[in-house]
Amino acid sequence: MMVSMEPATVYRGATRRYLSRRAAERSFAKAAFMKLCECEPPIHADRYPGATCWYHSLPTVAAERAIDIYTERFVKAGREPSGEDVEALIDEISDSEAGENDG
Ligand SMILES: [Zn+2]
Repeated sequence: MMVSMEPATVYRGATRRYLSRRAAERSFAKAAFMKLCECEPPIHADRYPGATCWYHSLPTVAAERAIDIYTERFVKAGREPSGEDVEALIDEISDSEAGENDG
């Protein structure tokens, strides 16, 4: 087996390069949520986990939905979200999570 080279288009995301536009676009949403991360470090070698932030306590499906919404609304639109925009998005996801937990 031989290593070969081929030219490829790469897309620059928030912190690195990606082979798909979609992955690059989504990286901006993930980076934005990571900036909001307020997870507390675990205390005493993981035996007492610290508090988990909004984003990291979301089930995977909801986190993916938050990333999708952020990507559509801000990254693809080329619009820098205000703090209020992000809070509205968080409320939207939190509300739908609460709704799903009811049923
Ligand atoms: Zn977090």
